[in-house]
Amino acid sequence: MESPSSTGPGPSIRVLIVGGNVGGLTTAIAFRRAGHEAFVFEARDEIAPEITGGTRLPPNITKVLYHWGYEARLREVALLSTAIDIRLLGTGERLGRHVWEDELIRDARGNFVFTHHGDFIHFLHDIANELGAKLRYGARVVEVDVEGKSVTLETGEVIKGDIIVGADGADGISRPLFDSEEDDEPLVNVYSTTIPEEVIRSDPVTAELYDTHQKGLNAAWFGDGVAALGWPLKRSEYALVVYGPPVGDTTGWTRQGGKEQMLQLLEQAEPRLRKLGEWARDPHIVTVNRCTPLDDWYHVDGPLALVGHAAQPIAAGSVQEAAIAFEDAVALGRIFSRLKRRDQIPIFLEAYEDVRRERDIKAYHKEVGDIEFQLLPDEYAEVRNSIMREKGKGGRNLFEVNVPTDNGVSDGWEEWKGMVDQFSYNAEDAADDWWHSQGKVMEASKGGAVDGPILQIVIAQNTKEN
Ligand SMILES: Cc1cc2nc3c(=O)[nH]c(=O)nc-3n(C[C@H](O)[C@H](O)[C@H](O)COP(=O)(O)OP(=O)(O)OC[C@H]3O[C@@H](n4cnc5c(N)ncnc54)[C@H](O)[C@@H]3O)c2cc1C
Repeated sequence: MESPSSTGPGPSIRVLIVGGNVGGLTTAIAFRRAGHEAFVFEARDEIAPEITGGTRLPPNITKVLYHWGYEARLREVALLSTAIDIRLLGTGERLGRHVWEDELIRDARGNFVFTHHGDFIHFLHDIANELGAKLRYGARVVEVDVEGKSVTLETGEVIKGDIIVGADGADGISRPLFDSEEDDEPLVNVYSTTIPEEVIRSDPVTAELYDTHQKGLNAAWFGDGVAALGWPLKRSEYALVVYGPPVGDTTGWTRQGGKEQMLQLLEQAEPRLRKLGEWARDPHIVTVNRCTPLDDWYHVDGPLALVGHAAQPIAAGSVQEAAIAFEDAVALGRIFSRLKRRDQIPIFLEAYEDVRRERDIKAYHKEVGDIEFQLLPDEYAEVRNSIMREKGKGGRNLFEVNVPTDNGVSDGWEEWKGMVDQFSYNAEDAADDWWHSQGKVMEASKGGAVDGPILQIVIAQNTKEN
């Protein structure tokens, strides 16, 4: 295996990464793959919070991990998702199913998988560590000096770098350094929790549900103002996410203690879902706000860029929540794999913003739209339900779009149309497209050499696979 610290023909720069969750750890991996030094500073003492919920990883994440050689390793912590079943929350009526068809998955070149959030963070941590990233926990950053290119830790220690990446989420210290018109209109509360498999199996009412779901089914319950999602996990637990009206304080992922509120919401739910709620451990509560996208992700005063939720918060519990943070990091690292001179740094940071901003904003709107679709009030929901019921009876895929009905009206939904686009995106390809369409031209106009090999390091297939 080629040494991850070899740098090829260009300079190796030092990237300081604030935050060590999906965005921060993936940034470290992507920069190490590009031959740069990566330092992660995570405020939390531990690699992953001890108690978290489930995360769904769509093909736009898994294809990159597979390409990097980590498919077998991901399967150790993830279950393959085959389909999603839609039910009505109140009655439990099954409207139908959407199967992730072979063609969609083949085109996307990845799979849809379920994982436990903590397991995924450990997975990313271990890869970043093996690639030689310096990962520091209990290392809260209290100041980011954009012009001075340094971060200061709570202990007073100052670390200097060449670029700084703010991967510290929506509530961190990096996002407020950008001009933002924060618009904190709360949209929904999200309750995220897990239930031990053995408890679900021990009750005949839910045992059957679990057996079916173990085959890779994601369950969705749509209701008037309350909705839920469930999926099995590799570690013998079942993930449960409940959406309800926004109540209480606006919080990030650090607050637990919403069980009573969640159970009140589930009072109107079918018996199986009520049981799941009762058996669940105390959920995390996150309030999803409507948010006004930042104009810039790259700071005017110096080399600070934002990734993940620091750049664009994506609704908690949604399909693309982790994927967007992951993609940001992958694209940024890939762009920097072409670095040959330090004077390219500002151009590359600007390129990153160009490559990613529109996609993230689109994902934000789509995920909010999908949540609203699940929570439709009864007076509008009947149209949605009857179309789904009809498709379900006919054995058709529920999210199929642009299929004319007898009266000529399409029976698809705008909200779902972006799904194929989302799955087929490849963050590395998007970064390469920028280089071929603009980067090379800019370099040529400056008289730079453009045809040398990129700094991409060839990482051998992960050893567990070999
Ligand atoms: C504690 C926690 C639990 C979560 N559990 C789940 C879950 O069960 N299911 C799910 O789908 N998603 C979960 N998420 C959310 C998910 O990780 C993110 O929403 C998404 O993947 C985007 O990741 P991100 O790295 O951009 O931001 P975040 O996940 O928000 O990560 C930001 C990181 O920055 C750190 N940080 C913040 N400020 C500082 C600072 N000043 N100095 C150093 N570090 C700082 C935080 O501790 C955090 O680890 C959780 C997030 C957190 C923080």
